[in-house]
Amino acid sequence: MKIAFFDTKSYWRDSFGPMAKEYGYEITFFDERLTPATAKLAAGHDATCSFVNDEVPAEVIRELKDLGIKVLLLRCAGFDSVDLAVAKECGLPVLRVPAYSPESVAEQGAALLMAINRKCHLSYERTTKFNFDIAGLTGIALVGKTAGIIGTGKIGQCMINILKGFGMDIIAYDAFPNPNLGLEYVSLDELYARSDVISIHCPLMPETRHMIDKDAIAKMKDGVIFINVARGALVDSEALADAVEAGKFRGVGMDVCEKEHEYFFEDRSSWTEHDATLARLLASDKVLVSGHQAFLTVEALDSMAKTTLDNAKAFLAGEPLVNEVK
Ligand code: NAD
Repeated sequence: MKIAFFDTKSYWRDSFGPMAKEYGYEITFFDERLTPATAKLAAGHDATCSFVNDEVPAEVIRELKDLGIKVLLLRCAGFDSVDLAVAKECGLPVLRVPAYSPESVAEQGAALLMAINRKCHLSYERTTKFNFDIAGLTGIALVGKTAGIIGTGKIGQCMINILKGFGMDIIAYDAFPNPNLGLEYVSLDELYARSDVISIHCPLMPETRHMIDKDAIAKMKDGVIFINVARGALVDSEALADAVEAGKFRGVGMDVCEKEHEYFFEDRSSWTEHDATLARLLASDKVLVSGHQAFLTVEALDSMAKTTLDNAKAFLAGEPLVNEVK
């Protein structure tokens, strides 16, 4: 199998390169993201391998089909980048990595929570300049506070376990509550009203786009900490920036943001003009943004490579495609 690998970075080459050789596959590593402008690079390959910020809309899928691509491999859990209806129409299976280390992703959520609450980013700025003044760095103790978890799937459950370790009380909302988890499920409105920390872990779909909007934010407690390691567009960033500037939040920790495909995984420090909303968010010391790195652990990368290549192997062998996105 020949795989056209898009949006390559050194960490991808290191995890996929040696393993692909063991499977007997040939990978061409392209630096480019998969977009309508770059889809033609896939000519001569059997599969594409794309990540969260690659763009796989209808026109790309049709072009890939014409180029002889037989299967679309996603090296991630989220599948919001792909037009699934058109992939189905073209007969191209979409195979993903449903779980590669949910613990790693939740741990990044916890890292952002701890850092923004205890103002580690401000502390770091000061101490590296030999400034050991701690005024203005007061946080809250999480023990006994209420955490509201939206989406109690694999990552949400890991986050719950971590937050229970801090002694937090957990309430949850899920469109499909899991009775086996022994959780206190509440309505979204009740979750907003009661939570001191809100962490969102549901997929981005048409019905969840901008679920955290102006109205939802207004229902949250003043001084809430909001964490998003799921998908940027779950949140209306304009409404978030307005609320941050109005002093609504104790802190916001984001590993994802709405326009991240223009920015993330690249050094954009030389750009002279930036997305206005992202710039507003970054200007606040109440907001801590990491560049979609929740997946970036040794264990997760290894697991992503193995599952992606196993998916390709199952496709080649005509075996059941257990990780197909339907
Ligand atoms: P999962 O499928 O195990 O869990 C998702 C949960 O969301 C399920 O319990 C589902 O019932 C629930 N859900 C679906 N629709 C909902 C709605 N409208 N409202 C509330 N809950 C709803 O997925 P997961 O592995 O826990 O991953 C969650 C998301 O995290 C992924 O979709 C992906 O976008 C994101 N993610 C981000 C990173 C990162 O590096 N930052 C890494 C992996 C995954």
